[in-house]
Amino acid sequence: MTAVALREVSLVYPDGTVAVDDVSLSVRDGEFVVLLGPSGCGKSSILRMVAGLQRPTSGHVVLDGRTADDVPARSRGVSMVFQDFALYPHLTVRDNIGFPLDVGDCPRLERDDRIGEVAKTFGIGDLLARRPAELSGGQRQRVAMARAIVRGPRVLLMDEPLSNLDAVLRSGLRAEIAGLARSLGLTVLYVTHDQIEAQTMADRIAVLRNGVLEDEGLPDEVYRHPATMHVAAFLGSPRMSLIKAYVQVVVDSHVALHIGGQVIDLPWPDMRARAVAHYDGEDIAVGARTEALRPAAPGSPGPVLTGLVRHLEHHGHETLVSVDVGAWPVQQCNVDEQHTGELVLRIRPDVRPVHGEQVGVRLCLEQLHFFDLENGRRIGPRGRRR
Ligand code: ADP
Repeated sequence: MTAVALREVSLVYPDGTVAVDDVSLSVRDGEFVVLLGPSGCGKSSILRMVAGLQRPTSGHVVLDGRTADDVPARSRGVSMVFQDFALYPHLTVRDNIGFPLDVGDCPRLERDDRIGEVAKTFGIGDLLARRPAELSGGQRQRVAMARAIVRGPRVLLMDEPLSNLDAVLRSGLRAEIAGLARSLGLTVLYVTHDQIEAQTMADRIAVLRNGVLEDEGLPDEVYRHPATMHVAAFLGSPRMSLIKAYVQVVVDSHVALHIGGQVIDLPWPDMRARAVAHYDGEDIAVGARTEALRPAAPGSPGPVLTGLVRHLEHHGHETLVSVDVGAWPVQQCNVDEQHTGELVLRIRPDVRPVHGEQVGVRLCLEQLHFFDLENGRRIGPRGRRR
């Protein structure tokens, strides 16, 4: 059953800022959905509308199949956890967790049982007498979560709940929060700008940009078949390399992709060649994650580009090498940052190319991505159902 649905929801602030632009999205009962996107893309605005703190300018928020437009925030069965935890400093952990029950006039005994139960779930049962100042960041976050679920909400909204914590704590809590949410059967809408958080925690991710929902699906699907160049560049570390290619159809045989002064042939039987062929005589963007690139001898046969090592990043277990293959960089409106026109590949740490050395990069054609430079959209079959 659908617990939360946004139906063609838009939000325009009084100063004319379009924070959310015609977004439709459903969250099923017990599902953990992550809203992912850069700062300012409208994630928090969506949460506020689901919570009832903000009314959509148009469209509807639907909870459990019913339009929630006229349901006040306190009656929505929705609770929220914020980035800054928002705990009351003068109250003990027990009273912070119990606060939503006090507002709801819960009988004393039931209150204490409930607090004890959720505190135990979050492993903070022995901290009930402390005040927030006497807790670590991770413990405060657990108290904030315990408080958010103490009344048994239908839906839990989380707004960047881990971004104030250090990296080690963050990665531990990622697994813990996702595991707890699943074991408690919670329906969660979770906001983050951190793609690793999204990939590791979500049942499904929804990627936003400038208020528009650009892609949505299982984390692995979105990673492997991103709908747009922005989504492709946003997901994955290191980022996908994006370079320009000039398309030339060689009739009845293949599509030639001219990359800098070099040519890669896309064989006709490759289903995407037909879609790419529509761009005959034009430029497209070619995207390659490190998985699609292998080191090769310069000038070796097959889909190999030759270039110069520009940058090396040693990570201990692997080295990332940026290779300048003379490609034109992609720098157009649909990608936020300029892409340098270099290919980044992973190599074994014991292989040590030197700066300026000539190397070959073998492209795994099936794993390349093609994008329209005008609208940033993926070219070719999606390879998955929408
Ligand atoms: P995110 O959570 O992804 O960082 P927000 O939903 O907070 O994004 O904001 C979306 C856009 O709306 C941003 O451009 C932001 O500056 C703008 N915005 C947020 N709140 C207001 C407001 N009260 N008045 C005007 N613009 C706002």
